[in-house]
Amino acid sequence: MDFDIIVVGAGPAGLSAAIRCAQLAKENKKNITICILEKGAKVGAHIISGAVLEPHALDELIPDWKAEGAPLHTPVTHDQFLWLTKKRAIPLPVPPSMNNQGNTIISLGLLCEWLARYAENLGIQIFPGFAATEVLYQDDAVCGVATGDKGLDKEGRHTERYQAGIELYAKQTIFAEGCRGSLTQQLFQRFSLRRHCDPETYALGMKELWEVPEEFHREGLVVHTIGWPLNTNTYGGSFIYHLHKRWVALGLVIGLDYKNPYLNPYEEFQRFKTHPLIAPMLEKSKRLAYGARALNEGGIQAIPKLTFPGGLLVGCGAGFLNVPQMKGIHNAMKSGMLAADSVYPLVQHEGHQECVAYEARIKTSALWKELYRARNIRPAMKWGLWPGLLYSAMDAYMLRGCAPWTFHVRTEDAQSLQKANLSCSIAYPKHDHKISFDITSSLDLAHIHHPENQPCHLHLKNKDIPTQVNLRDYAAPETRYCPAGVYEILVDVCGNPALQINSANCVQCKACDIKDPMQNIIWVPPEGGSGPNYGVM
Ligand SMILES: Cc1cc2nc3c(=O)[nH]c(=O)nc-3n(C[C@H](O)[C@H](O)[C@H](O)COP(=O)(O)OP(=O)(O)OC[C@H]3O[C@@H](n4cnc5c(N)ncnc54)[C@H](O)[C@@H]3O)c2cc1C
Ligand code: SF4
Repeated sequence: MDFDIIVVGAGPAGLSAAIRCAQLAKENKKNITICILEKGAKVGAHIISGAVLEPHALDELIPDWKAEGAPLHTPVTHDQFLWLTKKRAIPLPVPPSMNNQGNTIISLGLLCEWLARYAENLGIQIFPGFAATEVLYQDDAVCGVATGDKGLDKEGRHTERYQAGIELYAKQTIFAEGCRGSLTQQLFQRFSLRRHCDPETYALGMKELWEVPEEFHREGLVVHTIGWPLNTNTYGGSFIYHLHKRWVALGLVIGLDYKNPYLNPYEEFQRFKTHPLIAPMLEKSKRLAYGARALNEGGIQAIPKLTFPGGLLVGCGAGFLNVPQMKGIHNAMKSGMLAADSVYPLVQHEGHQECVAYEARIKTSALWKELYRARNIRPAMKWGLWPGLLYSAMDAYMLRGCAPWTFHVRTEDAQSLQKANLSCSIAYPKHDHKISFDITSSLDLAHIHHPENQPCHLHLKNKDIPTQVNLRDYAAPETRYCPAGVYEILVDVCGNPALQINSANCVQCKACDIKDPMQNIIWVPPEGGSGPNYGVM
């Protein structure tokens, strides 16, 4: 299949890029063909975010979004920033980066569904349920992507559902896969895109959506917390967003540079909900959804080269998240729009040129200035919570992001785990099944569809490493950092341990691809349409 432009990923970045391209074609009375591939069963199925939206990019892309019925229902009315101890919640001044006046609390999944309808009305073809699994090259230029085969069994044999993957060709391919995109990782290697930047670092975000009683609901309230249950050497914090319909989005984000292999992010999240600030609100409430996803934390220092012949990177695939704000949607959208402005002139010509104008546009944009000002906050947290907060306050109030220095992070998250024998094990409280839950019941609320019989999409480079290194040295950290219980160590009758991979549980958060200490796990997209079906997350 031939197109002018292919977009890989129907998140805010990919949808904005495609919409802007179609708008430019309409303005110039040209016909161009644009398609978007999305691995989720429908647009929004794999989308998970907080989310507080900074709406400027949306205003610019679709100025009449209100009249068009965009699902922005909950303007932020009030911000709180709290330091949690085990029993108390102590209010702190809201840092400028966490001031959300003028922003809106949304479900990003619903916004993406709406953007997809808008895109289709502009003539863009969207193919949900199709994962791009291979980059296609002509000479040394990207000339498109191929989707994965469907209907293979565990051994790779064709079943009666078999459908061969499709090759899609385009003059320009926009990669909008979000954080730790699998094809994006390959492009980094192929074109040495990360040669001049810091390594990307990440966090794992877990989120639940609850319906709470009227008396606990304060529509428009945005709460961020730091401190308990995390210790002062572990970067992270929580968010509590009161949407409309008595919905409350609760989440915990933990930096994946944590050191203790016994730390279990999922259990930290369950424990967080037992805090006296939160538990009373949840006791008579109903949990509606659960999910998890990695976020970028490297900031501007970790942004790679963005272009290569025939294609470019947008959104969190490139790493445009503003870490102190914990906001990436507006930058994902804006980068998609700048990519469209840069790519559109190229598709008027044949060939797979490198879109050099894009990087220049990004570097002179407000997005770049915003990331530049935010650049030192996250690296300063390496010193621990209190020194990090002190530096952040100085950076925000006195230096205003214009310090004459830039901090760098030189290590990848995979290298940060210390050995188990140097670490303290952590005892987590039992689940009460009212506020805190086991992974199995959480996964029911992620609505995962994943045929058991399909090939395993979690590839081990070396099958012995999980037991001979990870188990021996790090007490099998994959059994804890995976928020979906995919990895288990089973012991056979002779007492020999082996790693079992329950790939059908995978919520596609990418934490294992990032955190495995030996970088032995390679995440590849499973059959298109598999995985969670979030919808409203
Ligand atoms: C817990 C959490 C809370 C957050 N809170 C906020 C917030 O409050 N405000 C804010 O602004 N930002 C927030 N963010 C960040 C925000 O969600 C991201 O910055 C934003 O979603 C990035 O958009 P994107 O389009 O680059 O990627 P994504 O939103 O990740 O979208 C990528 C899309 O591409 C698809 N895809 C990926 N690979 C392929 C492939 N190979 N083939 C086909 N399809 C593919 C995926 O299924 C997905 O639909 C939060 C993130 C998390 C995880
Ligand atoms: S297997 Fe990996 S990508 Fe899937 S849920 Fe677990 S950590 Fe996330």
